[in-house]
Amino acid sequence: MSIRIKFCGGVRTVTGSNHLVETDKSQILLDAGIFYGHRDEYYAVNSKFSYNPAKINGLVLSHAHIDHSGNIPTLIKRGLHCKVFTTKATKDLCRLMLSDSGKIQEEDIEFVNKINRRKNLPARKPLYTEKEALRALKNFRGISYFEKIRLSKDVECTFFDAGHILGSALTLLEIKEKQRKLKLGYIVDLGRPNLPLLNDPVILKDLDYLVIESTYGNRFHPSIEEAKAKLMVSVNQTIARGGKVIIPSFALERTQEVLFFLNELIKENKLPSIPIYLDSPLAINITEVFRHHKDYLDKKTQGLFNKGIDPFPEERITYIKKVEESKRLNKDASPMIIIAGSGMCESGRILHHLKNNISNPKNTILVVGYMAQNTLGKRIVEKEPVVRIFGEDYELKAEVSIINAFSGHADKDDLLNYVRSSNGNLKKIFIVHGDLDQSEAFTANLKDSGFAAYLPQKDEECELE
Ligand SMILES: [Zn+2]
Ligand SMILES: [Zn+2]
Repeated sequence: MSIRIKFCGGVRTVTGSNHLVETDKSQILLDAGIFYGHRDEYYAVNSKFSYNPAKINGLVLSHAHIDHSGNIPTLIKRGLHCKVFTTKATKDLCRLMLSDSGKIQEEDIEFVNKINRRKNLPARKPLYTEKEALRALKNFRGISYFEKIRLSKDVECTFFDAGHILGSALTLLEIKEKQRKLKLGYIVDLGRPNLPLLNDPVILKDLDYLVIESTYGNRFHPSIEEAKAKLMVSVNQTIARGGKVIIPSFALERTQEVLFFLNELIKENKLPSIPIYLDSPLAINITEVFRHHKDYLDKKTQGLFNKGIDPFPEERITYIKKVEESKRLNKDASPMIIIAGSGMCESGRILHHLKNNISNPKNTILVVGYMAQNTLGKRIVEKEPVVRIFGEDYELKAEVSIINAFSGHADKDDLLNYVRSSNGNLKKIFIVHGDLDQSEAFTANLKDSGFAAYLPQKDEECELE
């Protein structure tokens, strides 16, 4: 009898988390995320699997981010028929996130096929469509934190709060082997203490093995309080000069955090009560999932709900669903805050708001999230004097204000503290989910602290003894 773990994706890189735990009796997958790369690489990597999806006995999903959940519909199309276990909140978020991912792929492929037709190249297909994403949801089973479930003959699983995004889970796998149970902790993604709306991560103890993320394996975050303070300063300065604040934001978690802080700042009289517009149907639907799953939020937020206080109140925040309402905002020159997606300014309604506001020095583009290379968001962060939007050039004259403190990931200290607190008789710690420099540095840091840390290669299989 042997127990093995194979690192099929999301190792030595951040995206595409996918790991296979194998015993003589079962095959369990941990996450099945989308790998992000240039278009050809994206479709090549995400459609190739180094195992047979039809043979998987159970899939455990840590949270709703697409780099963890986004390839589940592809696996189902390729024969995966087992249940997908995740928290109830993640299941509801996935309904929105996966169908959005299917829709984006359909639009992207439509664009590619237009070019291919002109070049007489064969038509391409998305990994999955919006419809196929929704069909995949039928395999999902929502369970609660602390509820132990059986995945297969010899493997059980329990979820604990990861404090990373709504519904995010740390996974404990208990694998039966002769007279004992081997305990494997899957700590991906790990949140950080004191994030608004969320509980602090639960520390899993007495583990034999640990698989842990390393996105910020060698970097520190400013405190989350700093994010709130900077938000206040930036908005106040923009209002003082009669401008608009344009916030490109990810629909899941970051948007709700920004809304929560803006609402608090107004209540604390640190911001005047100016109009706030959430111009993103996806973010609006996700905010509704937050309201529906209050029990996943921290005590402070639950306390507000219990007193009948909505942390995202409609009397302060205007939720915009219709395109016409969105367009109307351009005609109103008074100070306001507009939050829209996509987070990296690659698509969505944010593009219209940028087009209309980026050349006015009174306005502020407030960056609250990570901008990847080769995105419009990155060009704005780098303050390029002229940027292209919808094929036209626009002078970047608005102020660009960047807040780095919003991260939902544990930083260098949080990660080291987590492993130290977890301690027990850890035989080995596998480092995943990080750019190579971050993963290497975290591995080295753990080794310096006396831990048996190991940075696997992609598709490497390791024995768990
Ligand atoms: Zn995540
Ligand atoms: Zn992740």
